[in-house]
Amino acid sequence: MRAEIETIPYYHQSIDWPRLMTEHPPPPIYQRTVGIMSDEELREHQNLLIAPIIATAWGTGFFRTMWTEAGLSRGDIQTIDDLGKLPIYNSDDIKGAIAAKPPFGSHFPLDEHPMSTVPLKLQTSGGTTGLPRPSLFDPVAWEVQAILFSRGMWTAGARPGDIAQIPFTCSLANAGWSFQKACQDWLGVMPVTTGSGVVTPSERQLELAAAYGVNIWIAGAEYLGRLVEVAEEISFDLRQLKTKVLRTFLGNDPDRIRRTVLEEAFGALAFDGYGTHEIGEIGFECEDRNGMHVSEDVVALEVIDPDDGHQLGYGEYGSLVATSLHRSWPPIMRYNLRDIMAIYPREECSCGLRTMKISQIQARADEMVKVRETNIYPRAVEALVSADPRTTGEFLCVASKVQQGALGTTEVTFRIERLDTGVNEQALAADLSDQIKQKLGVRVGIEIVGPGELAPLTGYGTGEKKVKRLLDLR
Ligand SMILES: [Zn+2]
Repeated sequence: MRAEIETIPYYHQSIDWPRLMTEHPPPPIYQRTVGIMSDEELREHQNLLIAPIIATAWGTGFFRTMWTEAGLSRGDIQTIDDLGKLPIYNSDDIKGAIAAKPPFGSHFPLDEHPMSTVPLKLQTSGGTTGLPRPSLFDPVAWEVQAILFSRGMWTAGARPGDIAQIPFTCSLANAGWSFQKACQDWLGVMPVTTGSGVVTPSERQLELAAAYGVNIWIAGAEYLGRLVEVAEEISFDLRQLKTKVLRTFLGNDPDRIRRTVLEEAFGALAFDGYGTHEIGEIGFECEDRNGMHVSEDVVALEVIDPDDGHQLGYGEYGSLVATSLHRSWPPIMRYNLRDIMAIYPREECSCGLRTMKISQIQARADEMVKVRETNIYPRAVEALVSADPRTTGEFLCVASKVQQGALGTTEVTFRIERLDTGVNEQALAADLSDQIKQKLGVRVGIEIVGPGELAPLTGYGTGEKKVKRLLDLR
C-alpha cells in the first residue's frame, strides 16, 4: 500500500517569489535590469543561474551517461564558458531517453526529486506520430514561460487595462496557457481566452472581440490571416476593433509579406516571436522590429552547421542549439532545436535593450529534403507563394520515392492552391516553377489544386497548431 503523504507541495509556497523577480524579472523590471546588462554583468548572472541546473543534470541518468561517455566528470562544467565541452544532442536522443525510462524519460530528475514533492504540469511537443515528447513544468519554469511572453508583450506596447484575445486552445501545447498567464499574472492585461478556431468559430471570435473591446490579438500568423479572410467574407471591418498590438509568430517572412497583410488589415503593428515548448519564448521583437531580442537570463544560444555540427559565426544560418538557464524538468543543455536560424551579437538596440538577437526561423532542419544532392527547405518558398495574388498562399511539399535505375531517388512536388477558377493554372504552374527553381536551386514538380484542398493535410485554418509544409511519403 502506498504510504500516506501528509504534505501537499502548495504551488504558491513552492516559489521564492522575490528571488524569481530578481533572477528572471518581469517587465518593466526586466527593461531596467537583465535587459540592459553589460557583457560582464550578464555573464555573472548566467553563471549564478546555471550552477544548480548543471548539478541537476548530473543527477539524471541521461546527462550523466552522455557526459561521462564524453570523458567529462563533475567539476569540468562550472560556468557558461564551459558549455562548449558538452556534447550536443537532439530530439532523437530524447526519444531514446523516453524509451529507456518511460513514460517521461531518463533525462528527468525524478530519482532525486520525487513527483510528490513538486507541483508539476505536463505539456508536450506537437508530436505528429506516436506519443509526443513531454516536458514537465515546475512552478518556476511555469512562471518563467509567462514572464517571457510578458516581456515581449510589454515591449510591443501592452499595458494594464488592455484586453487581449487569445485564440490558442489551452491544451497539451503551452502557448495558450502561457499567454493567458502572461496577460493576467504579469501584465494586468485581461485575457479573453476564446480558444482556437476549433473551439470558437472565427466569425464568433470577431463578434466577441468587437463586443468586449479587445485591443490586442495574440495568435499565430496563419490564424490571423484566416481572421482577415473571414472578416472580408462577412464584411466585418477589422479596423473598428482599434487594435494596438498584433502579437504573433510570423515564421519565415523575409520580405515582410505576411506582416504587411496583417498590419494593413488590422491597422496595427505586428510583433514577431520565436519559442519552443521546452524553453518558452526565446526571442521577441521590439518596435525596432529588426531581429528578435533574446532573453539571455533564460537561454544561451549557439548555431551549428546542420550537416557536420561545427559551430557557425554570428549572422550565419544554421541549426539553433539552446541551453536553458531555468529548466530542470528536464534540464536542457546544448539541445539542438533543429530550427534553421542565425544569431547576432549583443549590442544596444534603439529600444534601449541590450541583448543578443536572433533572426526569424528560416526552416526546420528536420523538414529538409535532399533532392538531386541539394538540401531544400519547403518553408523557404512561403513568402513567394503568398506574394502571388493568384494563389491562396497555401502549399504543401510532397516528397516521394521514385525508381531510377537500381536505386530509388527522391522527387518533390509542391501542391499549391489557386485562388479561384479564373486563374490560368498552366501559366501559374510555369511561373511558380521558375521562381521556386530560383529560390531552392533545383527544379521541382508543381501541381495546382483548388482553394482549401490542402487544409486537411496542412492543418491550416484552425489556429490549433503550426501549419505543416512537408508530407513525406518516402
Ligand atoms: Zn530593441
